[in-house]
Amino acid sequence: MSPEEEESVVTRFAPSPTGYLHLGHVRSASQGFAAARRAAGRFLLRIEDIDRTRCREEYAAAILEDLEWLGLCWDGPVRRQSEHFADYRGALDRLAGQGLLYPCFCTRREIAAEIARSGAAPQGKEGPLYPGTCRRLAAAERARRIAEGRDYALRLDVAGARVGPLDWIEECAAGDERRLAQPGLFGDVVLARKEFPASYHLAVTLDDAIQGVTLVTRGVDLAAATHIHRLLQALLGLPTPRYRHHALVTDTAGRRLAKRDHALSVRAMRAQGMTPAEVLAAARGE
Ligand code: GLU
Repeated sequence: MSPEEEESVVTRFAPSPTGYLHLGHVRSASQGFAAARRAAGRFLLRIEDIDRTRCREEYAAAILEDLEWLGLCWDGPVRRQSEHFADYRGALDRLAGQGLLYPCFCTRREIAAEIARSGAAPQGKEGPLYPGTCRRLAAAERARRIAEGRDYALRLDVAGARVGPLDWIEECAAGDERRLAQPGLFGDVVLARKEFPASYHLAVTLDDAIQGVTLVTRGVDLAAATHIHRLLQALLGLPTPRYRHHALVTDTAGRRLAKRDHALSVRAMRAQGMTPAEVLAAARGE
């Protein structure tokens, strides 16, 4: 990257307030923070609190406090997804205008039954893909079910999206790598439900663009999601940031840390008397 480009680096940390920050979060946040600081860029904070059933105000407050304690201070106002539902609605309308959204009335059980019945369901990153049952419903039948008040999710008709080959730049230890997007890996993803105005995929893609993010730094567990994010960027006319997916923090047995490992929350480490520098070193795996 040229020095001029580096000056404009905007990174972000985007935790969901469903628990206390743990070492994995600290690794993501500190990598984003360092990338922004190295380039005299900006490090933004976004609270991903769309899922009102799992997110708690107490955790959101603790995230801000822990980041400040670690010295990972963010630039500008915090974006809270729960305050921007109109943005997600606008993006859904745009996709609907392209004829790429359809209502899906299937319950989990019906999807599982359909997959078992068809025998040869295509496999995706997260198991068998949605078999497309509701994609094939006639318009009148859709209208009838909606009029009946049936619950539905909005799915993206991935195969119907007319886009050329899509790629993105992955920043790897050995240098930049061009990755070819395979949006079909997740099948027809759900982009919204009645109680969720936007799924993770839709909200994260739109928010990164709205916040002017140029470099996404996050754990490798979310790397595959980039395939679908790249498609959404193309469909919504959004710029594509660069991506850097880092290795996950593991415990001494090599197992990935989970939120249930309370002993490794920043809170718990603070309570044990660790300093911010020690917590940051532990997040680096030192
Ligand atoms: N909110 C997501 C999480 O906490 C991270 C989103 C992202 O970095 O793309 O796992």
